Amino acid sequence: MSTFYIVATPIGNLEDISKRALRIISEVDLILCEDTRVTKKLLDHYEIKTPTLSYHQHSKLRKIEYILDLLQHNKNLALVSDAGTPGISDPGNKLIKRIIELLSNQVKIVPIPGPSAVTCAASISGFSMDKFIFMGFPPTKKKRKKFFEEIINSKYPVIFYESPYRILKSLNELKNISLALGIELQVVVCRELTKKFETIYHGTIEAVIKRIEKDEIRGEFVVAIKRKR
Ligand code: SAM
Repeated sequence: MSTFYIVATPIGNLEDISKRALRIISEVDLILCEDTRVTKKLLDHYEIKTPTLSYHQHSKLRKIEYILDLLQHNKNLALVSDAGTPGISDPGNKLIKRIIELLSNQVKIVPIPGPSAVTCAASISGFSMDKFIFMGFPPTKKKRKKFFEEIINSKYPVIFYESPYRILKSLNELKNISLALGIELQVVVCRELTKKFETIYHGTIEAVIKRIEKDEIRGEFVVAIKRKR
């Protein structure tokens, strides 16, 4: 029986990794990485010499078959993404599905939990997060209006991911749709969580947009948003 570990890695600060995660990625036969160059920085930092292989959303069937073959030959593998938890807006689910379908009697799938930008943002939002909705990235072309309407109409807080190139565009679209609907929005925009330039913007969507416009728009963003009562 082989083991396929799904290992969460830091979303910025390299200290945010569990002892168990470090032990597992040191002990496995191979680490599957979304981008081997990104994971190398983590491995070098902790002086881990485990071999790596790239596995990402565009990996060909041949690569998947190779990975399944390794597992059938009792190799223990770890899957990591560039940052955070594999499978959360990141590669992993397709491969796990294949393993469950084809090798469930031969492979044990083990999660090694840790950081994720969504839980990190939820934890500091100050919103009641007993129930919340995670919507990943907004679509970049079609169905954007529908996506934002769904957020505005949600009775629970919503969290979504956004790139620095589109953060203001998305916030402005949300603002305009909410104004048209007569709904006030409270937002928490988290930039560069756990990193040197970590910034948290709280307030009404109008106020947060003004503050972000004044700053340099760089880095990674997560948005938590809810209707103001
Ligand atoms: N699997 C990852 C996780 O568990 O958080 C998410 C991967 S997704 C491809 C990358 C997006 O997550 C970024 O574009 C950004 O929206 C968000 N993100 C990741 N790290 C972040 C950070 N340190 N600060 C803010 N947002 C971050």
